[in-house]
Amino acid sequence: MTLDSQTLIRELTELLGEDRVITDPEKLAERAVDTWPLRLVQHVVGADKVLPRLMLRPRSTDEVARALAYLNERRIPVVPYGGGSGVAGGAVPAAESVVVDVSDMNQILRLDADNMTVTVQPGVFLADLEAWVNERGFITGHYPQSIDVAQVGGLVATFSAGQFSTKYGNIEDMVAGLEAVLPSGEVMRIEYVPRRAVGPDLRQIWVGSEGAFGVITEVTLKLFPKPAERWMQGYAVPSMRDGLTIIQRFMQAGWKPAVVRLIDFVEAARLLQDTMPGEEALLIVLSEGPKGYAQAEGAAVDELVRAGGGRPMGERPVELWLERRNDVHEFDQYINMGIIVDTIEVAAPWTRIADIYEQVTARLKAEVPELLVIMGHSSHSYIQGTNLYFIFGAQPPRDPAEVERVYWSVWERVMAITRECGGTICHHHGIGKLRARWVPEELGSAWPLLQRLKQTLDPNGIMNPGTLLPRA
Ligand SMILES: Cc1cc2nc3c(=O)[nH]c(=O)nc-3n(C[C@H](O)[C@H](O)[C@H](O)COP(=O)(O)OP(=O)(O)OC[C@H]3O[C@@H](n4cnc5c(N)ncnc54)[C@H](O)[C@@H]3O)c2cc1C
Repeated sequence: MTLDSQTLIRELTELLGEDRVITDPEKLAERAVDTWPLRLVQHVVGADKVLPRLMLRPRSTDEVARALAYLNERRIPVVPYGGGSGVAGGAVPAAESVVVDVSDMNQILRLDADNMTVTVQPGVFLADLEAWVNERGFITGHYPQSIDVAQVGGLVATFSAGQFSTKYGNIEDMVAGLEAVLPSGEVMRIEYVPRRAVGPDLRQIWVGSEGAFGVITEVTLKLFPKPAERWMQGYAVPSMRDGLTIIQRFMQAGWKPAVVRLIDFVEAARLLQDTMPGEEALLIVLSEGPKGYAQAEGAAVDELVRAGGGRPMGERPVELWLERRNDVHEFDQYINMGIIVDTIEVAAPWTRIADIYEQVTARLKAEVPELLVIMGHSSHSYIQGTNLYFIFGAQPPRDPAEVERVYWSVWERVMAITRECGGTICHHHGIGKLRARWVPEELGSAWPLLQRLKQTLDPNGIMNPGTLLPRA
């Protein structure tokens, strides 16, 4: 039987203290959404918000553990909440759930300068951490566009990737140690050592866990030295396909410039506020590192890009991108007008990635009448392949059901094309509630293992129902 709300509030207040239990409907309404464009647009055109039953704001691992054990025993669904910058609906609470907001767990706990790690609570905003370590001569090397609005716990939970990932790696490469609380209230800690060959890497269970296994309560991140020098250059390349081939060549030759970004002509026109000739794409390369490193890498990459047909455009396109890279105010404006603006990031091996770009742009233009714009870029490259990041705008009729119809008509096409081309449905924004329906197909024979993991860690199924794993 469902516990009545008065008893729930009273008992949680006894457990955690009055100031930790939030019931104010205005505050709960703020936690009824994250940054998933589908829900944001639906609310603009009239859909009601589903409020959580209440919100908890723990300050310590112990408070998280007590709260989870209590809620687990009573089978009450729990939604961990960080900065709310997730764009896949991962933190959108299911009906009847309790939100566990970790924003008050915002302490930087330890800097280990000798071994170059920093340990933080999950609610530390990444921009604050970056500024703090910068003052001490280090960088995190992690620069997602959401650096100002995403918290460290959320970044780990969503498998985040930053704009300088080609050199510094993604979040899975940066997590040195971790602490998390299971729904039973048990606390598991994995301390940092340079490498541990003791069974599977248990840290990685939490990378991309999206609140479906428990709550991450502490993270130790690796640090990098502040780079001494930068080299940068923009190039015009004949097409996205040609640009992808150029990147493949220099990545497979062994170079790893921190920023490698290939921007199609539609997006490039917005960045440069000028059009590129024909369908030329813009390639941005930025290298940084200790003295001598950036110049050497830059010279080698430059030679390969020119040999592949790249026309140098100087440093200005890179400077413009550096200035504007985190400015997304236009997104909010469109969403507030009831226009869907969303991003879809996928990845594939080099041999199929250009096919995905060409098929997605051509088919959306031909098959989705409500489409206003489709553009994209590649921003995270590896020796074996790269990602594509599509940005689309669409104007549905002002009705929540119509918004949903148009939204899925775009997403279904992009997911299908990506799967048919042997790519993955998600490069870095996480699965959330948005992509959960495609997870069984994507994982194939490994899907039952994820189900068993969930069953083992969260036998009562209270953790973030419908996120990461689709509802039955
Ligand atoms: C403008 C914009 C730009 C973005 N750019 C990037 C980018 O460049 N790269 C990138 O990777 N992402 C990007 N994102 C996506 C987003 O910032 C990430 O998904 C981010 O990692 C979420 O962190 P958060 O603290 O906001 O988490 P939330 O949105 O609060 O939560 C995200 C998910 O993680 C879970 N969660 C949160 N905290 C915890 C915790 N402590 N323990 C367990 N589970 C938890 C939640 O339940 C939810 O499922 C962008 C988003 C926006 C709005």
